[in-house]
Amino acid sequence: MRIVLVGPPGAGKGTQATRLAETLHIPHISTGDLFRANISQQTELGKLAKSYMDAGNLVPDEVTIAMAKDRMEQPDAEGGFLLDGFPRNVSQAEALDELLETEDMKLDAVLDLEAPEDEVVKRIAGRRVCRNDSAHVFHVTYTPPKQEGVCDVCGGELYQRDDDSEETVRKRLEVYHTQTEPIIDYYKSQGLVATIAATGPVDEVTRRALEALKRDQ
Ligand code: ADP
Ligand code: AMP
Repeated sequence: MRIVLVGPPGAGKGTQATRLAETLHIPHISTGDLFRANISQQTELGKLAKSYMDAGNLVPDEVTIAMAKDRMEQPDAEGGFLLDGFPRNVSQAEALDELLETEDMKLDAVLDLEAPEDEVVKRIAGRRVCRNDSAHVFHVTYTPPKQEGVCDVCGGELYQRDDDSEETVRKRLEVYHTQTEPIIDYYKSQGLVATIAATGPVDEVTRRALEALKRDQ
């Protein structure tokens, strides 16, 4: 299956993507994680991306699309993938459609994770991410690690993302509403959108997402 996850920052896209990818046996492709890996490896792309990310802005389309394309063309993504955080504006959605069309492929579903703004702000404020792998995500009160500051999965150090500061979060929410939300209508016109309530326990949200994917098949 080829799935796109959309939703405001903090809605739980990464958390759900990890679980859905495991159940569906497809790779979880997060452009945010790819940028963070580039930042920690101090690549040129990482240096460029960091300035945009720290300000809460989108990284320019040209480099983002090239990076996402390169990842989707890896052998493990041949049978499908779950995109988390890409596309993030209509131009990226159009570029993805073109890319899939040249390979004679289509998206199967777009899952729109809905959560109220005050909830996503609380989630982001308490988010802690593993230094070794930013797919290992915790929350200081909602989903705390067994030992404070230590990743349950690999023992890595947990840290607070630079762009999870209160000021940057406000900017990211504004960018979400103005630039990313329009892709929901874009995909609605293709009949691909399933809206999922992203509130409540993590397991419950996963169950709703899997139900919606079953209905779409
Ligand atoms: P996104 O990828 O959409 O930005 P994350 O998956 O990183 O969001 O989740 C944001 C924060 O909220 C994390 O700290 C995560 O542990 C927490 N979280 C995710 N889903 C839930 C949930 N259903 N209930 C409570 N907290 C959650
Ligand atoms: P995320 O990990 O999805 O919350 O993304 C963190 C940051 O990475 C965003 O605020 C953007 O600055 C950048 N980013 C991630 N994905 C994209 C994308 N598809 N287009 C542009 N910028 C992105």
